[in-house]
Amino acid sequence: MNDATPHHALEATATLAAFDTAATGLSQDEAARRLQRDGPNRLPAAPKRSPVLRFLRHFNNVLIYVLIAAAIVTAVLGHFVDTAVILVVVIANAVIGFVQEGRAEQAMAAIRDMLAPHTSVLRDGERRTIDSAEVVVGDVVLLEAGEKVPADLRLIEAKGLLVQEAILTGESVPVDKDTAPAPTDAPLGDRTAMAFSGTLVAAGTGRGVVIATGAATEIGRISGMLSTVETLTTPLVQQMDRFSRWLTVLILLIAAILLAFGYFLEHFAFADMFMIVVGISVAAIPEGLPAVLTITLAVGVQAMARRNAIVRRLPAIETLGAVSVICTDKTGTLTRNEMMVASVVTAGDRFEVEGAGYAPEGAIRRGETGIDAGAHEALGEIARAAALCNDAVLRDDGGSWTIQGDPMEGALLALSRKIGGISPRGEWRRADEIPFDARHRYMATLDRDGNGAARVSVKGAPERILAMCAGQRGPDDSIEKLDEHAWNEAAEAIAAKGQRVLAIATRSMADGHATLQHADLEGKLVLVGLVGLIDPPRPEAIAAVAQCRQAGIRVKMITGDHAGTAAAIGRQIGLENPDSVLTGTDLDMMDDAALGNAVAETDIFARTSPEHKLRLVTALQSRGLTVAMTGDGVNDAPALKRADAGIAMGLKGSEAAKEAAGLVLADDNFASIVAAVREGRTVYDNIKKVISWTLPTNAGEALTIIVALLFSMSLPVTAIQILWINLVTSITLGIALAFEPTEENTMRRPPRPRGQALLSAALTWHIVLVALLFLAGVLGIYAYAVDQGYSEALARTMAVNTIVVLEIFHLFFIRNLYGTSLTWAAVRGTKMVWATVLLVTAAQFAFTYLPVMQTAFGTVAVPVQDGMLIVGIGIVFFAVIEVEKQLRLALLAGRA
Ligand code: ATP
Repeated sequence: MNDATPHHALEATATLAAFDTAATGLSQDEAARRLQRDGPNRLPAAPKRSPVLRFLRHFNNVLIYVLIAAAIVTAVLGHFVDTAVILVVVIANAVIGFVQEGRAEQAMAAIRDMLAPHTSVLRDGERRTIDSAEVVVGDVVLLEAGEKVPADLRLIEAKGLLVQEAILTGESVPVDKDTAPAPTDAPLGDRTAMAFSGTLVAAGTGRGVVIATGAATEIGRISGMLSTVETLTTPLVQQMDRFSRWLTVLILLIAAILLAFGYFLEHFAFADMFMIVVGISVAAIPEGLPAVLTITLAVGVQAMARRNAIVRRLPAIETLGAVSVICTDKTGTLTRNEMMVASVVTAGDRFEVEGAGYAPEGAIRRGETGIDAGAHEALGEIARAAALCNDAVLRDDGGSWTIQGDPMEGALLALSRKIGGISPRGEWRRADEIPFDARHRYMATLDRDGNGAARVSVKGAPERILAMCAGQRGPDDSIEKLDEHAWNEAAEAIAAKGQRVLAIATRSMADGHATLQHADLEGKLVLVGLVGLIDPPRPEAIAAVAQCRQAGIRVKMITGDHAGTAAAIGRQIGLENPDSVLTGTDLDMMDDAALGNAVAETDIFARTSPEHKLRLVTALQSRGLTVAMTGDGVNDAPALKRADAGIAMGLKGSEAAKEAAGLVLADDNFASIVAAVREGRTVYDNIKKVISWTLPTNAGEALTIIVALLFSMSLPVTAIQILWINLVTSITLGIALAFEPTEENTMRRPPRPRGQALLSAALTWHIVLVALLFLAGVLGIYAYAVDQGYSEALARTMAVNTIVVLEIFHLFFIRNLYGTSLTWAAVRGTKMVWATVLLVTAAQFAFTYLPVMQTAFGTVAVPVQDGMLIVGIGIVFFAVIEVEKQLRLALLAGRA
C-alpha cells in the first residue's frame, strides 16, 4: 500500500491488509497483544485542577469577601480575638467545602465509570460485546442505530448507514455512509467511507475496521482530552446561590443603617458599634449554605447510584422529586424481558409450548396431546424462519442456557430447537437483511443454501406482516387465500393472555438472488403462523406501581406492543386504568387539544412509535404535569430531552438515548425509577431542611441583637460571642441535615407542584415564628439572669448557651418536617446528627468552663440549675413549634 494515501481514499481491502486483519476480525490473542502495545482506547483525561487552586476557589464568594473585610477591620481596630474567630469561620468553611467537593467529584467520576460505553466487535469470527476502551486497531466493529462509534473506522459494510457527526464537523444533519473511497483531499465531513470516534449512528447498520484509537482518533486530535467535569449544581441550588448573595446585600444594608443609628443616635463608640454590626452580619449571612447544599446533592447522587439510578445531569435529581407522571416502556422495564414462546398458531392448528427459560427443551402439545413436532411441516417452517430471521445466540453454559442478543429472538431460537432439533438453520446462510426498526415493526432476512437457492424469512407485528402477505400456508403444504379475519382473531386471543404476538412469513426467491428490498416483501409473502411469547411482569415493578399510586404519581405504559398484550400486562401490573387503550393510529388522528384531554385518563398507549413519545410528553406537560419518560432507542432521544426527567435504559439502551437522558438505569427496572423518585424527593426535602434550619436560626440570632440595640438595652451577647456561635453551629449542625435519611411518609405525599417556590408562605412564617421565639428565649434568660443579680458576663454566657440549645432543638424539629418529631425513630436520630450535637455540646462546655476560653470570650461558669433552665427553655421552644406544626398538618389533612 502507498503509505501516503489516507484510509478514506483506499479500498476497504487495502485497509484490512494494512492492519493485518480480515473482515472476520482479529483473534482474541492478537487483540490482547495490540491492546498491550497501543494502550486502551480512551482519550487522555483532562488534567486535574491543582488542589491549591481548588482550595482558593472556595474564598471566591461575596459572602466570604464580606467576612474577610470584617476580619481586616477588626484587626485594624485591635480586636484580634474577633479577627481570629472570623478567620477560623472562613477557613473552616473553605476546608469543609474543599473536602466535600473532592468527595463529590470522586463520586461523580465513579458514576461516570459505571456508564462506560460498550461496543460489539468480531473476535475469533464471533460477535462479542466489549468495553469500548478495549477496542484495538484492526478490530472489526459492528455498528447499529443508536450506538456511538468507538474509534475511527474504515467502513467495510454499510446498510442505510446514517451517522450524526455534529461533534466533529458541527453539521447536525446525519451523513450518508457507504464503502466507496473518497478523494484523498476530501474534508472530514465528506469522507463517507469513514465513521469517526464519538459520532452517533442515527440509522442503519454497518461494519468497519478500526484504523485509530484513543488520542490518535480525529476527535482525540481536536479536543485532546475528555470534556470537562460537570459542575455540581442544579437550578434550585443556583437559585439559592443568588438568594444568598442578595441576602448578603440586604444584611449589609441593614448593618450600615444600624451602624449609623448606633453611632449618631445612641452615641456608641464607633469601634464598639462596628464590632456589633460585624457580629450581626456574620450571624445573619448564611455563609455555609452553598457548601451544605452541594453536599446534599452529592449525597443524593450517591444514594441514587446505590439504587441503580445513575444521574447524568444533576438537575434531574430535582425534577425527579417533583415527578407527577411516569411514562414507561413495557418490555424489560415493567416485565422481566425473559421471554419464552408459549403458543404457536398455524392455519389449521393451535399448539402450546412447554419449557422453562431459554433451555431448548419442552414438549409441544395440541390441546392435551403431545405431538411429534418434527413431523409437522408448518411447524418446521416456523422453526426455520424463526432461526434464520434472528440475530441472537443461544449458549449452553453447562446446563444453564443463556442468550446473547434480543431476548425475544433468544426465545425464538429455543422454540425452533424444540421443534426442529439441533440445527434448524441447516445449510442456510444470510445474504442480506432488513433490520428491525421500531417504526416498521418487522425484520426480514434473505438466506441462501449451498446450491444458491434463496428464501426470505420475515417476523414482526401481525397487522404489519398480514398487510404484506398474499396468502397463507395451508395444513397440507399448499398456499391458500389469506384469511385475515381469522388471523386477527387468533392474534387478539394470544394478546389477551398477555403474550407478545409475532407473525412469521416466508417466500422463496429466484435462485441466486442476493439483495433484499422492501419491495420484495410487499404483497408477496406467505403467512406461516403466529407465535405468542410470555414475558412475566417483574414482581418488584408491581410493588413499585402500587407505591406510585400512594405517592400520587400516575404511571403510563407506552409500548410498541399489541394493544391486547399491553392491556393484559397493564392489568397484571396494577395500572390505574388498564381498560382503555389508545394506539399509535388513534394518536395520529387526534389534534393536540384532543390529545391533551385524552392523555389525562388513558394509561396505556400501544403500537406507538418513538415519535409518539414526544407528542405524549408535550401533551402531559401542557397539563401542568412533571413528566418522567423512559426510552432506549435512538429515536427516543427527542422525547427524553423534552421530558422533565429523561430516563434511559442502561442495559438495552442505545448510547444516543443515554446521552439524551438525565438519568440512566443500571438495571432497566421500573422499581429503580421509583427508588430514584424517592431519593429525588429526599434530596429536595433535605435542601429544604437545610434552608429551613439555616435561615430562621440566622434571623433569630440577628434579631436578638438588633432588638437589644434598638431598645437601648445592654447587649445580651457580644459580637465575639455571636462569632463563636456561628463558628460552632453553622458548619456542624447544618451539615447534619444534608445526610438526613428519607422521611417515612415521603412516598405517601402527593408530588410537589411544578415550579413551587421554595420560600413558601409556610417557610416564611416559620422563619418569623422561630426568630421571635429565639428573641423571647434569649432576652428572657438574659432578663432572668439580670433579675437574679448575676454579673453581666454570666448573663451573656447563659444567653449564648440558650441560643445554641435552641439551635439544637430546632435541628431535631426540622428533621421531621412532614411528620411528628416525637417518635422513637425521630429521637434516635442518625449518627451524623448525634455526632454534630455531641461536638457542639463539647464545644459549649469548653466555651463556658475552660479558663482560656473564658478569657477570650468573656464567659463565666454557669451554675448547674441555670444550665438545666437553659435546656428547659429549649424543651419549651421545641414543644411550641412542634404543636404549631401538628396544628398546621391537622388543618392541611382536614382540607385534603
Ligand atoms: P416496549 O415499549 O414495551 O419496550 P418494545 O419497545 O419492545 O415495547 P418495539 O421494540 O417497538 O416494542 O416492538 C414493537 C413490535 O415490533 C413488537 O410488538 C413486535 O411485534 C415487533 N418486534 C419487536 N422486535 C422485533 C424483532 N427483533 N423482529 C421483528 N419484530 C419485532
